[in-house]
Amino acid sequence: MGLKLAWGQGSMNDIKNYEGIDLWLKEGNCLKKEKRKLIFLLACLIVFFMLTKVLQKKEEVPQETEIIVPDVEITVYNAREDVIQVMQLDEYLTGVVAAEMEAGFALEALKAQAIAARTYALGRALGKYGSNMERHLGAHVCTDSTHCQAWIPKELYSTWYPKADVEENWTRIEQAVNETSGLILTYEGEIINPLYHANSGGITEDIQEVWSSVNPVPYLQSVYSEGEAEYSSFEKKVTVSGEKVREVLMKAYPEIVFLGPVSEDVQVIQYTGSRRVKDIQIGSITIPGTKFRELFSLYSTQMEIAFKGDDELEITTYGYGHGVGMSQCGANALAEKGKDFRYILEYYYTGVDIELIPEDILLMSKEP
Ligand SMILES: [Zn+2]
Repeated sequence: MGLKLAWGQGSMNDIKNYEGIDLWLKEGNCLKKEKRKLIFLLACLIVFFMLTKVLQKKEEVPQETEIIVPDVEITVYNAREDVIQVMQLDEYLTGVVAAEMEAGFALEALKAQAIAARTYALGRALGKYGSNMERHLGAHVCTDSTHCQAWIPKELYSTWYPKADVEENWTRIEQAVNETSGLILTYEGEIINPLYHANSGGITEDIQEVWSSVNPVPYLQSVYSEGEAEYSSFEKKVTVSGEKVREVLMKAYPEIVFLGPVSEDVQVIQYTGSRRVKDIQIGSITIPGTKFRELFSLYSTQMEIAFKGDDELEITTYGYGHGVGMSQCGANALAEKGKDFRYILEYYYTGVDIELIPEDILLMSKEP
């Protein structure tokens, strides 16, 4: 009844519903005070308990992650000098980045290159991805760019880049290597095969389209790559006479039969999903686009073939290299747009993780 009066409204049903509360409110004042004390104490206890938990959690959050640079040595077969050299991994990597990427590229692109190169070198040291230590006289890697990664020592930098400021460039490359020290690329916990190339011509390639014996690799699949057209390696035009075409093909395939001039003998049969030549017919045979590129030292298999007159080919290629994995020009284009090395690497190598060299890999790479 008290409730009804206090609110000044309601119905008889309300009164019935609140009768229990009404009775409770009418209990003695002492009892009310005791209950309030009890509730207050309970509330204090709950607050105290929650505060303790929060403080504990704060203590558990690690302070800034300390990057410990792993002490890794690598054996390098210096093909130029015909000697095996033992180097610190990052010291070797500085020479790789110097040889593989223009030092004038944005720092984040250089960092992405350093991580790809570190991953590549460690993968080789572990005997993965086509490693052939016999070719290196037992060393982990060699300096032959057609087999492993290109590498130059600081003292030869000026012979490769005569117009460059050696000190400035070398310092910049060292910075990219040092600031990413210990970081490698993994996919589902396994070190990846971080293929890279100079320029993708606007789109990278699926690995299985370049190496037909290789199964599809989830992190080496085609992606669009913008901003590469402004680099000199993006577009190249070459002309090849019909006579030269026949000479080169007959040397590689003595059984080949020609029907007439190249305008009748050369035809692209199939393209890959990234607009690269998959198969090309020449006279009586069909060869992979990759073989055609190799035979005529073309920049890329992404090409347009036109005929100049009856018996001359005009080949326009887009991009430079096999087109798989990270495009170096694309990486620089992304870096210039403000993207960092993590974004760049995750863009070209779909689904990878960037992590410090795991302990098991460190141990394996130290095994003789
Ligand atoms: Zn090698």
